[in-house]
Amino acid sequence: MKNYFLHNDWQIIEEGFNPEMHEAAESIFSIGNGKMGQRAMFEENYSGKTLQGSYIAGVYYPDKTRVGWWKNGYPEYFAKVLNSPNWITMDIQIDGESIDLFKNNPSNFKRILNMKSGLLQRSFDYSTSSSKKISVDVERFMSKEDDEIACIRYSITAHDNASVVWNSGIDAFVKNTDANYDEIFWSRVSEKSDNEKAWLKSKTNKLNFEICEGFFVKTFIDGVELSNVKYTSTDWKINSSWEFNLEKGKTYTMEKYVSIVSNMYYDADQLEQACADNLIKAKQYGYDELKNRHVNSWAEVWENADIIIEGDVAAQQGIRFNIFQLNQTYTGRDPRLNIGPKGFTGEKYGGSTYWDTEAYCLPFYLGTSDAKIAKQLLRYRYTQLDKAIENAAKLGFNNGAALYPMVTMNGEECHNEWEITFEEIHRNGAIAFAVFQYELYTGDKSYLKEGGAEVLLGISRFWAQRIHWSAAKKQYVMHGVTGPNEYENNVNNNWYTNYISNWCMKYTTEVINYIAETDKEYYVDFCTKTNFNTSELEKWSDITSNMFFPVDDELGIFLQQEGYLDKEQMMASDLPSSERPINQHWSWDRILRSCFIKQADVLQGLFLFEDHFDENTLRRNFDFYEPRTVHESSLSPCIHVIQATKLGYTDKAYELYLRTSRLDLDDYNKEVHEGLHITSMAGTWMAVVNGFGGLRIKENKLSFSPMLPKQWDGFNFLVRYRDSILNIKIDKENISVSTNAITTVDCEIYGNTISLEPNKVYTQALLK
Ligand code: BGC
Repeated sequence: MKNYFLHNDWQIIEEGFNPEMHEAAESIFSIGNGKMGQRAMFEENYSGKTLQGSYIAGVYYPDKTRVGWWKNGYPEYFAKVLNSPNWITMDIQIDGESIDLFKNNPSNFKRILNMKSGLLQRSFDYSTSSSKKISVDVERFMSKEDDEIACIRYSITAHDNASVVWNSGIDAFVKNTDANYDEIFWSRVSEKSDNEKAWLKSKTNKLNFEICEGFFVKTFIDGVELSNVKYTSTDWKINSSWEFNLEKGKTYTMEKYVSIVSNMYYDADQLEQACADNLIKAKQYGYDELKNRHVNSWAEVWENADIIIEGDVAAQQGIRFNIFQLNQTYTGRDPRLNIGPKGFTGEKYGGSTYWDTEAYCLPFYLGTSDAKIAKQLLRYRYTQLDKAIENAAKLGFNNGAALYPMVTMNGEECHNEWEITFEEIHRNGAIAFAVFQYELYTGDKSYLKEGGAEVLLGISRFWAQRIHWSAAKKQYVMHGVTGPNEYENNVNNNWYTNYISNWCMKYTTEVINYIAETDKEYYVDFCTKTNFNTSELEKWSDITSNMFFPVDDELGIFLQQEGYLDKEQMMASDLPSSERPINQHWSWDRILRSCFIKQADVLQGLFLFEDHFDENTLRRNFDFYEPRTVHESSLSPCIHVIQATKLGYTDKAYELYLRTSRLDLDDYNKEVHEGLHITSMAGTWMAVVNGFGGLRIKENKLSFSPMLPKQWDGFNFLVRYRDSILNIKIDKENISVSTNAITTVDCEIYGNTISLEPNKVYTQALLK
């Protein structure tokens, strides 16, 4: 699907309608505002293939687990993000025939997602079966500023005379495609209408999330407002109806204003009022003002987070698409919310939280927004610590050991494949690493006493119990795990998991000692609350001093796991393209037996703990593992870009950069119709900033060692660090750095420390 969407700096553009591509386009053109989001379905009826999806953050359904062979410890349910009432729906009948772009293909079809302003626009010419011709222009947005309001402006210009019945409303009878037992997840509560508006309430089954959605429309002929719409309500549906005769040459416009509220933010008995208040506010502002407020809110995002790439439109569009989607998905306003791998763009992955948040998304939010947003992500895990302890207890661990879920909505495990649920435990490491990274980035240790130390303790206790002594090896080992490379399960001594587990115990020890030394009062409370005893530190120290790490001395590499070299060794380049991705062509057993690696595994460790290893170690491991990696997880290419730039493998870095930044736009993994890969988009940001920009934090300073891909004329990124924003520009000759801070900021360029004075640009030659 390469080049299906036109290359453009700020826009995603589809020209010409292709029903085969419609579901992919629905994903790509998704819009959202952190509180709600939606796939880019059409407003009008569409009888072709479509994946309907309107989502409200935090509103989910615990769908009863379905597995072939039940194992003790499996979760009861899988939390599914819910397809919620469809608020865009319009049935537009011309001479009695509904507009349907599947039945009668449009001409001059154009769909544009404007990333600068967060507007989704569409235009096309259409002819009914009886050859009545119209032109259509549509624009819609989910307000980033007024985040319970969404709007559509839909205009029809007549090229013939005809009669029209234009129904527009909200349809609450919606289903999830992904439902284990084909259940309906919603129940009706009420539908109401008056002369000016209509609204309905629905409730999710089991958990009783309650929502109220209401709307009103304004209608115009050639810009002159009319008042001729009737509102009605029936079971599951509310509607407005506008009947008129099209006159050739005239333009008929409907503005639809929608309010969506849930009992996440209001008491259930206040929902109707809250919904009505939003509609009043929408009426007062009107379409253009609501749009201005929304567009201004996006301008603020770009002011702090834009990345400019010169001389390479595909790369520019890729990075902006990623930054745009991340900001549509998560705003950090609510600590109960998190970032699902598909965000608001599809049902897959249940919309829940994975280790992706800590390992990939946290650095993006740290680098582009106020630290309090990243802190919300840490708080999310702290509030779920009790559930992580319960989860570990369910599996036989004790004394406050915590195993965070592989997939969760509210802290309870949802994943139900034993090799992942019970074995892909490295996720615990990423959650601990996030505490460390937040502290490193912000220099703020306060979170350690606001829950961070408790999270670390629970995680380290888990590792200490999960690791066991091998009398044969006379070393500690960890058996039965799945590393980040999910194309290999139930392995012994996965190097990455062994490494991160040991790091967790060492870091937790440091944190506890720091607390004991600096705040006796808190330390006493902490010991009492957690039942902590210093003998635990001795145990951890014994483990970390005597842990087994698989290596191959001859090759000078860390072994992904014991026995990895016994596999038939092949290169990903040996695979015929007709067999890729292998997860869509090979049987699972063949994948498991092969040496092919889904995503960074040993290299994930060398990425997180870069400072623990020298460059030659990285080179030997990269040279060995990358050629065996098929990058079939969206999380894979970005890590490799960062390492390839460090090693000077510029072509490889660029190739993998395109793969990460245009993963969805060019559908590398042939699955974009299911939704976008939101969490890996943060990895794309890291690929530019930490990869090509060479950004690291060294001794409380930002340090840069940039390189410029030969395909680019230059690039420019902003990064927030503590109280300042740094602006970094790289062109073919120089790197220039400036800051908006009011005091001097020290940073390092290629190892030289420079003191940046406020609003002065410091320039240094680029090392080639
Ligand atoms: C990856 C996991 C990731 C999950 C959700 C899987 O394909 O292997 O590492 O957590 O997708 O993004």
